[in-house]
Amino acid sequence: MITIAIDGFSSSGKSTMARRLAAKIGYRYIDSGAMYRAVTLYALRHGWASPQGVDTEALVAALPGIEIDFAPQPDGTQHTLLNGEDVEQPIRGIEVSESVSPVAAVPQVRHALVAMQQRLGTGGGIVMDGRDIGTTVFPDAELKIYVNASAETRAQRRYDEMRAKGLQVNYDEILENVRTRDHIDSTRAESPLRKADDAVLLDNSDMTLEQQDAYLLQLYQRTINHASAKN
Ligand code: C5P
Repeated sequence: MITIAIDGFSSSGKSTMARRLAAKIGYRYIDSGAMYRAVTLYALRHGWASPQGVDTEALVAALPGIEIDFAPQPDGTQHTLLNGEDVEQPIRGIEVSESVSPVAAVPQVRHALVAMQQRLGTGGGIVMDGRDIGTTVFPDAELKIYVNASAETRAQRRYDEMRAKGLQVNYDEILENVRTRDHIDSTRAESPLRKADDAVLLDNSDMTLEQQDAYLLQLYQRTINHASAKN
């Protein structure tokens, strides 16, 4: 079993892609962004985070008491647990989205979550998506994919997704959030978002889900064949 790392900007469709691929090949899927979101929710509840910044000292002191888990659901998806509480819904809201990038830029938060992610990935058989999976979490992953699509395409996708869930949302606000997160995620000092040299670049702006699934399965098969030819 191999390790598959999928990185890219927010709302590039990488979570959907990672989840579908994992289900098809019988691997475990881990959404690393959900872990940063859960820590952000914890910080917001304590008044330690806002879009402008983070009370780093208080948050870092609390890190050892923050436990994140994933609970598989009957429909095949999984929910994020924060100290045992199902927080899948609140971590997807705009409040968390607006404060997550400053929280994710705190080096101690990254160290704690990267260690957790590496433990989850022990032994392979995992598809993990995020920003630094191919560069920092699993630099030796056998298959790395870097996904991109224009900010407008990504904002439209998030807008459609939230509308479908019955949420009241504003497209311009979402586009602004996507652009702000792109900027913070790609310019932070600690493991910024960037394509690993050995990652396959995938622009899925004009791909259907089915085309994307077929492409990924082909990449997976090629990687497996290559790995077994080497052994
Ligand atoms: O993937 P998602 O958009 O849910 O991630 C939320 C935020 O968490 C990102 O905007 C980024 O700031 C942070 N993140 C990160 N490293 C990861 C995954 C997410 O910094 N591996």
